[in-house]
Amino acid sequence: MKTLVLQPGRDRSLRRRHPWLLSGAIARVEGVPETGELVAVRSAEGELLAHGHYEPGSQLRVRLLVFGKEPLEEGALAPRLAAAVTRRRADPLLAGTDAVRLVNAEGDGLPGLVVDRYADVLVVRPSTSGMLQRIEALAATLREATGAAVALLRPDAVSLRRVGVDAGEALLWGAPPETPVTIAERGRCYRVDVQRGQKTGFYLDQRDARDLVVALAAGRRVLDAFAYTGGFAVAALQGGAAHVVVLESSQSALGLARENLAFAGERAECIEADAFEVLHAGAGDFDLVILDPPPLARRKADVPRAARAYKDLLLHALAGAAPGRLVLAFACSHHVGPDLFGKIAFGAALDAGRRVSVLRELGAPSDHPVSLDHPEGRYLSGLLLRVDG
Ligand code: SAH
Repeated sequence: MKTLVLQPGRDRSLRRRHPWLLSGAIARVEGVPETGELVAVRSAEGELLAHGHYEPGSQLRVRLLVFGKEPLEEGALAPRLAAAVTRRRADPLLAGTDAVRLVNAEGDGLPGLVVDRYADVLVVRPSTSGMLQRIEALAATLREATGAAVALLRPDAVSLRRVGVDAGEALLWGAPPETPVTIAERGRCYRVDVQRGQKTGFYLDQRDARDLVVALAAGRRVLDAFAYTGGFAVAALQGGAAHVVVLESSQSALGLARENLAFAGERAECIEADAFEVLHAGAGDFDLVILDPPPLARRKADVPRAARAYKDLLLHALAGAAPGRLVLAFACSHHVGPDLFGKIAFGAALDAGRRVSVLRELGAPSDHPVSLDHPEGRYLSGLLLRVDG
């Protein structure tokens, strides 16, 4: 097996089982491994520390799969995959829905692989060449473990392009799905575009927050800003909201939002708009304002600008509010964690001249597990705020 040797003193993160080996930690490569090949990693002193998939061209040069002297065979990922599926099946926190993330990359010991289930359709999303190359074997395991009728391959093209791989979409098994696929989540129905939708088609990571919105919405006028296909708006109506307004800039997402909200008739209004601009003009007389913008800090260098943008959004949501308004706000970037997001909210409340309480902090649900070895896996921070005065 080809071997990477670390720079002296660069073995710490591996000894702590962090699953990413950064390019700067590598002193030399013995042999010429192919993209995605299984390689061994040794310390500068020659000690065998880990095995993983080699990703030349990526800063994250090796996705580590096993630590210590334990060897890693091709095929060793199958039991991990099957275990990830079994864990979801046994998880009481995932009851009542047929749409679940089955594999959450590092969180399930499978760096570079995400698999989401929408009713009888799986969407398989590799983001490394290591996983992409092994996709047929992985698919066979998935098919057996899930019994799903259809699986689509929708690679993360942006990440793969970085390692020089141009990956197309494909059908892994079954008949091409009727799209959109209809999912049923705790009394809510959504149509999901598994072929062209954002991510794998739906924001499964906001399921717990949707449940919270159901519990809060009765009699309230609700603004769902950055709504995508209306995940929160549908939940608000399920909870008895008086009226919901959806703001979304993507026409195709808004088209599905309209279908998802058709049951509500005049209680729902879908507007194609720039939510930043709308909020700048004030958040009107809504009693519950939901702010779920796209990731504003994809890289660490973006954090100051992102923090200003989040603060601006929150400021407008808090400033003219009648006391009692609830604001449910999210940041979906590892670089803006719960501490920083709390500080941003504090700054916004101060500038708005309002007294504000935090009622609840939120994160992703249990089908998005985060390994303690990999804190970067924690990317979703949510705050439920109440304007007190
Ligand atoms: N709340 C959604 C997920 C939101 S993801 C859910 O739970 O399903 C962020 C969304 O914001 C995306 O759908 C994106 O198209 C939309 N978006 C991005 N910029 C926007 C803008 N300036 N105004 C309105 N929507 C925007």
